[in-house]
Amino acid sequence: MAKMKVAQIAKAGADFEIVEREIPQPGPGHVRIRVQACGVCHSDVLTKEGGWPGLVYPRVPGHEVAGVIDEAGPGVTHWKAGQKVGVGWHGGHDGTCLACRRGDFVNCASSKVTGLSYDGGYQEYMVAPVDAVARMPESLDAAEAAPLMCAGITTFNALRHSGAGRREFRPIPRIRYDLPS
Ligand SMILES: [Zn+2]
Ligand SMILES: [Zn+2]
Repeated sequence: MAKMKVAQIAKAGADFEIVEREIPQPGPGHVRIRVQACGVCHSDVLTKEGGWPGLVYPRVPGHEVAGVIDEAGPGVTHWKAGQKVGVGWHGGHDGTCLACRRGDFVNCASSKVTGLSYDGGYQEYMVAPVDAVARMPESLDAAEAAPLMCAGITTFNALRHSGAGRREFRPIPRIRYDLPS
């Protein structure tokens, strides 16, 4: 079995440790990603200090992942090896609960969080459910793109909800100042 390096937290409050593990196999509905870059988010402290209900250790943090699909698991038809992808905070949803049926996947009754519910991007290879995977343009540099998966979407959402980009948004009329001559 081929090995890889991971940066894991062995228990709540422990320091990071670099350990070797077997490269994992993607199960049904999952893909294995060769991680090229992973951003560091303050929310990683939840994994490190144990600030999340139901955390199981050891755990590999990291939810700002950029990489390339390395292998698609059984039954995966719409993703294939070689595609550039990202994985963010939203680590998957069941697609069946009331929130999901309303299209509100983030509020899924059994949603998963990358790096908390399962091992995230602080490792050479990670396995993610396909519903957590987003396609990334080939032209994006992995190290620059990775933080877009959490920090980037957080700031983008603020702009999106501000109304700045909406069609009904009207710019403030220009005021002419006629200065006395
Ligand atoms: Zn984050
Ligand atoms: Zn759901």
